[in-house]
This record gives sequence, structure tokens and C-alpha cells, in this order.
Amino acid sequence: MAKHKFMAAEKFGVWHAFDGQCFWCGKPIAYPQTTVDHVIPESVEDKPGLLDEIRRTYGLGPEFEINSFRNWVPCHGNCNSSKGKRLYGPSPAMLALLDMVGRRSDSAAKIARRTTEDREKGRILGKLESALEANVITREELVSLLGDLDHQPLVPGAQPVLELLRGWTVVRGGNGIATVTDGRRAGIAPTDPNPHHSWRCPTCGTYGPWNGVVCLSCGQMSEPWD
Ligand SMILES: [Zn+2]
Ligand SMILES: [Zn+2]
Repeated sequence: MAKHKFMAAEKFGVWHAFDGQCFWCGKPIAYPQTTVDHVIPESVEDKPGLLDEIRRTYGLGPEFEINSFRNWVPCHGNCNSSKGKRLYGPSPAMLALLDMVGRRSDSAAKIARRTTEDREKGRILGKLESALEANVITREELVSLLGDLDHQPLVPGAQPVLELLRGWTVVRGGNGIATVTDGRRAGIAPTDPNPHHSWRCPTCGTYGPWNGVVCLSCGQMSEPWD
């Protein structure tokens, strides 16, 4: 199946709805550097029946589409290609990520629609895209011009460092997630040395472990993926 060609307004909506942050590494990303990635890879559409199976096993509902704001995220070109076409299993973190994308999809769609309706905005954005494509302006030039548009990270000072979860032992692992226990309580924590920023507790800064929306390190309840 042909790959979706993103309209400038779609890309802008996705970028804006995620506060100008790369979905995969959590670092700020300037609009001209932004590529749009599919959380569920586009290649899924090539295999008959697979999309329906994913809709079912991931609990996404029959209306979920691969090429929709529910599945589009902004990211760096590097972060996009390092992930490749990998389809992650329906692990809790993956489902949480899709849920987070879903919760931003309305706002992304709204921004895209407004950009399309606002002729002036659409025209400038369109010019920008074709100038980039024709190499009239380089991405580097645009980034230096628009540098101040970079947004702040959602979690200030977040570092890609995995704190050791002292006192917790791993019960089982797989899919980048470990089930851990301290003998009394059990939770889940990421095993990746560079966990996705959404794993970080906004209250105490650790990577959980998490029991639902409760951080077991500090006991605070939060929306960890907001
Ligand atoms: Zn990135
Ligand atoms: Zn915490």
C-alpha cells in the first residue's frame, strides 16, 4: 500500500499537539526537523487481517486507523529510523503510549484543521515545506531561524538515566518491561537503559515502579503519561 504523504497541516498539528517534543526520545524538536512516525507501523496495512487483530488485541476499537491522529507522533528522523518498522507487542507501556497519543489526537486534528482553514498560515507552511523539499532553504538554516520556537520538555530536567530501583527484585521481564516486587507490593518498571520519558514519575523523578497510576517509590498518584 502507498505510504501516506503528510500534508504540512497534519505534520504541524502533530508537532504542536505534542508540545514540540520528540515522542520517542522526549527531547525538544524544531518543526523543520520533525518527521511523523506511526506508533503502529504503516506496514501493518500490507498484511491482510493484521490490522483487525491489532485493533482487537490492543483494545483500540474498530474505528482505529493506521493513518490517523490516533497513531501519528512527531519525532527526529534518527529516532524514527532507529525504531524502524518494529511492531511492539500489546504490553502495558505500549498500550499506555497509544492511549496518550489517543488523548492528544483531538487537539492535533483541531490544530491541523485550523491551519488548513487559515489560508495565510497554510500558505506559509506550504511554502516552508516546498522550500525544504527543493533545498532552497536547508533544515539547518530554518532551525537556526526558528530556534526560539523550540518548546521546553514536558518533564523539566528529565535525563535519560535509569535510576536503580533499590530494594526491588525482578520477577519477570520481557518487552522492555519488568515486573518487580519488594516482597509486599508489585509493580512494573522499564528495563531499557534509556526508558521513554513517559515512564518517569512527575512527583519523585524515578521510573516507578508503577502500580496502575500510583508510583510505588513515592506513593503519589499521577497521570504518568501527561
Ligand atoms: Zn528524538
Ligand atoms: Zn514517584
